[in-house]
Amino acid sequence: MAQLISGTLLSQKLKDNMKLQVEELEQKYGRKPHLTVVLVGNDPGSISYVAGKEKACNYVGIKNTTIHLEDTVSEEELLNLVDRLNKDDSVDGILVQLPLPKHISEAKVIEKIDINKDVDGFHPLNVSNLWLKKKCMLPCTPKGITKLLDEANIDVAGKRVVVIGRSNIVGLPVSKLMLDRNATVTICHSKTQDLASVTSQADILIVAIGKAKFVKPEMVKEGATVIDVGVNRDENNKLCGDVDFDLVEPKVAYITKVPGGVGPMTITCLLENTIEAFLNKVGE
Ligand code: NAP
Repeated sequence: MAQLISGTLLSQKLKDNMKLQVEELEQKYGRKPHLTVVLVGNDPGSISYVAGKEKACNYVGIKNTTIHLEDTVSEEELLNLVDRLNKDDSVDGILVQLPLPKHISEAKVIEKIDINKDVDGFHPLNVSNLWLKKKCMLPCTPKGITKLLDEANIDVAGKRVVVIGRSNIVGLPVSKLMLDRNATVTICHSKTQDLASVTSQADILIVAIGKAKFVKPEMVKEGATVIDVGVNRDENNKLCGDVDFDLVEPKVAYITKVPGGVGPMTITCLLENTIEAFLNKVGE
C-alpha cells in the first residue's frame, strides 16, 4: 500500500505556523499582511475558489478584501482598479481570479499587477525570474508540490521526473522547479507519442492535464511517487484527479489524493506568498 502524502495535513501545519507569524507581524508592524482578490463575474468555480481563499486567510489572520465586479466591467476599468491597488500601500498582494470574461485580455491584466504584489507569480517578470533562477514570487501550485515532496522526504536530485501537462501555471513551472532540484525532467503533452512508455519510466510522475482518472496502473512504474494536480468530476459527479487513484495506489510508494492533495497546498502557498510580499515591503 502506498503512503499518502496529505496536502490537508501539511497545509494545516503550515497555516498554524503562519497564524503565529501573522500575530507577531501585527505586533511588530501594527498591521497584518493584506491580500486583495478581484473576482469578475459569477463563474461558480471561481466563486468557490475565492471563498476557499477567504476562509484560509481568515484562519491565518491575513486581512483579505474581495472586490467582486460584474462581468460587464470593461478592460479599462479593471486595469484602472489594478493600478489603484498597485498604488495602495495598505495592499500587499493582488490576485485577479482567472478566467476573465472574453472581452478582457488576461495577459494585459496580469502584466498590470505590480510584480512585488503578484502573489500568483504569473507576471511575465516573475516568470522570467523563475527561469533565470533569480529571486521571484513562485506560482502557488508548483510551490505546493515541492512542499509535498519535501514533507514526504522525497529527494528528486538525480531522479527521473515526468510531468504530464505544459501549462504556464502548472506543467512548465513545476518542471523548472524539479530541474532546479537536479531532477532529470521530461515534459509530456497531448502530442506525446506512446505516453505510457515515457510515464512508466518516471520515479516521480506529476500529472496536470484535467482529465478524470486518465492515468492507469500500466502508465506508472512500480514504487513510483505520483502527484495528482487534476481537479475533475467523475461519472458520479464526485471530485477526482487525473489519476485513477484506486487502481494506481496499490502499485506506487507515495501518492497524493484528490481532494486533499495538491489543492489545499495551492491556497496555503498563496498565503505564504502574501506574507512574503509583506515582508519584502517592510524590508525583512
Ligand atoms: P491546461 O492549461 O488545460 O493544460 C493541460 C495540459 O495537459 C496541456 O499541456 C495539454 O497538452 C495536456 N494534455 C491534455 N490532454 C492530454 C493527453 N491526453 N495526454 C497528454 N497530455 C495532455 O490545464 P492546467 O491549468 O495545467 O490544469 C490541469 C489540471 O490541474 C486541471 O484539472 C486543473 O483544474 C487542475 N489544477 C489544479 C490546481 C490545484 O490547485 N489543485 C491548480 C491548477 C490547476 P497540450 O499542451 O498539448 O494541449
